[in-house]
Amino acid sequence: MAQFGMPVLYALLVWWFSTGAIIYLDSRPRPTFRWSMLGATVLLAASLYGLVASSDDATIGGAYVGFSCGILIWAWLEMSFLLGFLTGPRKHACPAGCAGWHHFGHAIQAVLYHELAILLGAALVVTATWGQPNQIGTWTFLILWGMRQSAKLNMFLGVRNLSEELFPAHLQYLTSFLRKKRMNLLFPVSVTASTVIGVLVLESGLAAEAEPFMQTGLTFLATLVALAILEHWFLVLPLPATALWNWGKRSRAAGEDIAGAPESRGAVLAVARQPGRSVRAGALAAHRGRSLPGALRARARRYRAP
Ligand SMILES: [Zn+2]
Repeated sequence: MAQFGMPVLYALLVWWFSTGAIIYLDSRPRPTFRWSMLGATVLLAASLYGLVASSDDATIGGAYVGFSCGILIWAWLEMSFLLGFLTGPRKHACPAGCAGWHHFGHAIQAVLYHELAILLGAALVVTATWGQPNQIGTWTFLILWGMRQSAKLNMFLGVRNLSEELFPAHLQYLTSFLRKKRMNLLFPVSVTASTVIGVLVLESGLAAEAEPFMQTGLTFLATLVALAILEHWFLVLPLPATALWNWGKRSRAAGEDIAGAPESRGAVLAVARQPGRSVRAGALAAHRGRSLPGALRARARRYRAP
């Protein structure tokens, strides 16, 4: 069982630690961002080198290197987005009532540079390992990409937990592209499709008895899919899932904590910047977890009452 247990444990640790590390760095004061990004870029260069160097290494060690490099390359993209270096040309929130395809276009504009960087990253990773026996790093990257894209679409369409507290103050405007809703129609499709993919990968891993490299590599990929499915469930289940990374949030300076404090600077500023919205109404809506128009209507009703 160790041939499966070790990669599962390693993937779990890498997932938990890298997520927390990104939250930690992204919660630190803004002047530290360029140094964090510089450090991440050094790691990115090392990972690209590692990916190329291990691409002809179809051994257990090669699978570990490929998987780690795939994760680190993805982590650079996540960091460049969350630290605000690569987002999109649209850097302000949408007014209340902005919806439909028009609003979807706004959401794409808000993350356009990030999406283009991912495309470029994918092309780089695929080219770097093209025709080589060790594709674990490439598949790691592609799974992360696909699952993250699905999570983003689900958050745009509406989910229960948006984990706004993980959005740093400088990205609070992005929460205007997310919706709070019990469920959306894409969610069951996302979870079903990814579960089928996860089971197929797991089956191939279990069937690859004679090939320790494939066994290890496919176990990494199956664990990654399982974790991404878990993250999807975190979006809709009433669980305080981000508590898993409370240690990462500790670097947030006092007064910058957005968690559970809707009147905090970031949330208020994001709302205040939108025309036609009062700061108090925004804070009120955020506080009650309601949509802004809903909160405004409630307020109007209260004022009309004799
Ligand atoms: Zn819009």
